Amino acid sequence: MIVPFVDLQIQYRQIKSKIDGAMARVLDNSAFILGREVEAFEEAFAEYVGAKFCVGLNSGTAAIQLAMTACGVGAGDEVIVPANSFFATAEGVSTAGAKPVFVDADPVSYAIDAAKIEATITTRTRAIMPVHLYGQAADLDSIFEIAARRDLLVIEDAAQAHGSLYKGRRVGAVGAAGCFSFYPGKNLGAYGEGGAVVTDDAEVARRVRLLRDHGSERKYRHEVVGYNFRLEGIQGAVLGVKLKHLDRWNDLRRAHAARYAELLGEVATSGTLMLPREMPYARHIYHLYVVQVDGRDALQQALNAAGVQTGIHYPIPIHLQPAYATHGHSAGDFPETERQAGRVLSLPMFPELTDAQISYVAEQITRQML
Ligand SMILES: *Cc1c(COP(=O)(O)O)cnc(C)c1O
Repeated sequence: MIVPFVDLQIQYRQIKSKIDGAMARVLDNSAFILGREVEAFEEAFAEYVGAKFCVGLNSGTAAIQLAMTACGVGAGDEVIVPANSFFATAEGVSTAGAKPVFVDADPVSYAIDAAKIEATITTRTRAIMPVHLYGQAADLDSIFEIAARRDLLVIEDAAQAHGSLYKGRRVGAVGAAGCFSFYPGKNLGAYGEGGAVVTDDAEVARRVRLLRDHGSERKYRHEVVGYNFRLEGIQGAVLGVKLKHLDRWNDLRRAHAARYAELLGEVATSGTLMLPREMPYARHIYHLYVVQVDGRDALQQALNAAGVQTGIHYPIPIHLQPAYATHGHSAGDFPETERQAGRVLSLPMFPELTDAQISYVAEQITRQML
């Protein structure tokens, strides 16, 4: 049996007529950039997450950059980010002109360790950017408590957490701004690049809208120097169709996670395998199903040989990336993040995964480990 890590084709086949129809509308109207389909999606997504505004962009990385700039964070400012995330979390802070300051991961939730934030705050710190890593909300109450006391903004990286809940609230709509990616493999994925900023602040939304389109609200009149970060019409149309399925797809992911936990429970209690834990404040939507194990590389190879594709998220922590060598970090600075980088393994996870496939994956892991 072959179990792919993700399979985007099965999903497309299931909703093909709706997707093809939506794409055809864009082609018929030649509304290739922004336009009606993008506007309709922005409205629907704002309502979905519970924010007043949504501004569609051409990537999640652009969303992070523009959210920073629109919130007034830039040159000379520091932004606290987790060392354990996809590189773009820090990258978007850097391209906005600010400096990412790294914090270690929590050993249980994998997200930023809120207890370690305060020690990194300086007079230059302007914002905290929690990442709802792998689809589970970060510890927002602790983060907001620090932010309120130290007068900092909270800007969420929700690129892996479309529909994920923190104490019943959709993430992304909790902070000053929330950043989403619609990269095809995300829980809500476009058929190309895409991203969005959501916010309740009309002025932040206006600035993001301005910056995504050459600093221009009116054609050929440019108020500021901006960017070309616009969302394409086809992506807006695709996302509008797919948004209607998101809750159902997230429920399926949750059911698959529960099934993995059931089948792998025995190996986990033997102490060699650590399963993801849903935190009491969170409703996890399992963008990734990440386990931890000693001898990760050998297990990954054995699974690969058995036809089970897995991933590592992420093998090199951000503070050890060559791109941030000038920050002067070295191995040992963030021990929990570094430990996880050597032990994490992401198992196949997508809504259309079958029970036979999950059973097969669990069987192969059990065989390797017991
Ligand atoms: C995917 C991702 C991004 C970047 O999104 P792109 O659309 O690929 O630019 C940012 N942060 C996190 C945590 C992500 O997973």
